[in-house]
Amino acid sequence: MIPPERTVAIVGRPNVGKSRLFNRLVGKRMAIVHDMPGVTRDLASAEVEDNYNLLDTGGIGMKPEMTPQMIHDATEEQVDFAVQAASVIVFVTDGIEGLTVIDEELAKQFRRYGKPVVLVVNKIDKQSAVRNLDDFFKLGLGDPQAISAEHGDGVDVLHEVIVSQMPPYKPPFYSKKEERRIRICLCGRPNVGKSSLGNRLLKAPRLIVSEVAGTTRDAIETDLDYTDSDGTELKFRLMDTAGVKPRRKLGSSLDYFSGLRTSGAIERTDIAFLVLDAMTGVTKHDKTLAGEVLKFGKGLVIVVNKWDLALEQFREQPVRGYETEKEFREAFAEAVDKELFFLPKSPILFVSAVSGFKVESILKAARTVDVTSGLQLPTGALNKTLSKLMDKQAPRIVGKKRFKVYYSVHVSSRPITIRMFCNREEQLDDRYRRYLETGLREAFQLEGCPIRLDLVGKP
Ligand code: GDP
Repeated sequence: MIPPERTVAIVGRPNVGKSRLFNRLVGKRMAIVHDMPGVTRDLASAEVEDNYNLLDTGGIGMKPEMTPQMIHDATEEQVDFAVQAASVIVFVTDGIEGLTVIDEELAKQFRRYGKPVVLVVNKIDKQSAVRNLDDFFKLGLGDPQAISAEHGDGVDVLHEVIVSQMPPYKPPFYSKKEERRIRICLCGRPNVGKSSLGNRLLKAPRLIVSEVAGTTRDAIETDLDYTDSDGTELKFRLMDTAGVKPRRKLGSSLDYFSGLRTSGAIERTDIAFLVLDAMTGVTKHDKTLAGEVLKFGKGLVIVVNKWDLALEQFREQPVRGYETEKEFREAFAEAVDKELFFLPKSPILFVSAVSGFKVESILKAARTVDVTSGLQLPTGALNKTLSKLMDKQAPRIVGKKRFKVYYSVHVSSRPITIRMFCNREEQLDDRYRRYLETGLREAFQLEGCPIRLDLVGKP
């Protein structure tokens, strides 16, 4: 996958030959053309030679019948988008028509933004275009590249010029080969059993524990090298193990939350395990804490501890409507989901620190959520999914305009961050944002991982 900063956008007035040029640059080089139906149909995108993402903005803002003013506005919309989304802009003009007022205006806009612009004069196969060529120097965007998109003349040279303007190649964020430990932390109200769980975990079979040197008494970290039952070696770092060892109990919940912040465990962890007490269920503090975890963009897994007590109670006093323990557990999970409806479909684990029941499932869940949050979402599939979602349920119209996404790319992981190039950022309301996040989570199976939609609109 090509990193998002290697993106090239083709812009220009209608009929100058943008899509011809797009096909030339792409076609010859066996690129992958992303088929983008629906809302983003105004944009074509493809990967050229594993080198750059090429976008044809030609359809943005275009309608069948357009007045000159509408053409002008649509072209400006393309420029706005291109300036935000691309690191190199290919500005196409029509040599036969010669330099036009719109071209001059666009050039002015480009000069203001200072992005690399490659000026292209197309249709150079015609004599009139050759005669007009000199005029284009006036635009102040450097030497025009004379090409014929129709016949292919000058396209190879243009490709080289584009590549030369590109920012230096940085390996994509997702290809980093890192020997990293998955940082996990147990968080929750006092007395839910965090210390007991932590201590239980440290005694797990097939686990080698080593304290991390240099950590202070207050925020001790412990490395866990765990061999899974299938032989997979997993490396974790358990954060804030100061809390694991018996320590003084903090009084009020306020102390508790401020205590958490200073220890910084949530900020520094990859995955947070929100420990709930099966006997009390979800409380207000649990919700607050879950909110904190998500604010920091961390993976989140729910651990229902003291499940031994809940089961004991169930056996003594069966709850009507639930025949089996399994049914009881499922109903419990459903109730937790309902209370914590704002979670990113977090897995729910039922454990007992006292009996040791399922305590190791914490490590497995950490591994699963960590892998998921490090996934790379391919640009084509991402845009297709978003188009489908937006076709299925269109965003509201605010004022006269409807929120529109031109193009999206997955820009970073942990948390999964998706940059969406759109017409107006402020037109995405919270409900629709949640709708898109939920849709993406379902499509790409991103359970337990928060998703950030990073909107980029009109500059
Ligand atoms: P923390 O404040 O969250 O660290 O909670 P502790 O680990 O200190 O546990 C609080 C109390 O709950 C202690 O008395 C534990 O023995 C008890 N406890 C913790 N986990 C379990 C569990 O799974 N089952 C039962 N029955 N008791 C538990």
